Amino acid sequence: MKSCLFCKIANKQISSRLEYEDEKIFAFDDINPKAPVHILLVPKVHINSLNEIKEKDKDLLGHLIYQAKILAQKKDIADKGYRIIINCGKYAGQEVDHLHVHLLGGKPL
Ligand code: AMP
Ligand code: ZN
Repeated sequence: MKSCLFCKIANKQISSRLEYEDEKIFAFDDINPKAPVHILLVPKVHINSLNEIKEKDKDLLGHLIYQAKILAQKKDIADKGYRIIINCGKYAGQEVDHLHVHLLGGKPL
């Protein structure tokens, strides 16, 4: 989607601090971190929100969560604990309409 912020980050039209990338997903530091570690994990394909997930996307969701765990270990926050969040829709406060997983940790939340 041309106008989407996270699609632009995926296409490197907008810069970010990249933490992880493969053929399906990428992860980068949140610009307004709510914790010492605050990373967003995002599919490269544009999906508006969790509401638009289809059965064929189950592996993609699993991949996002699995890589969140790997990043938590890499960032050394896994042992003490961390939180993953997916905001879906207006009442959840979803600001960017491109599915993303927040990984937060590094302090008591
Ligand atoms: P959500 O409220 O779940 O939609 O979260 C959107 C997140 O994207 C917020 O935590 C923002 O701080 C973050 N964000 C917005 N613009 C950027 C950007 N250009 N680079 C990195 N993170 C961003
Ligand atoms: Zn997008």
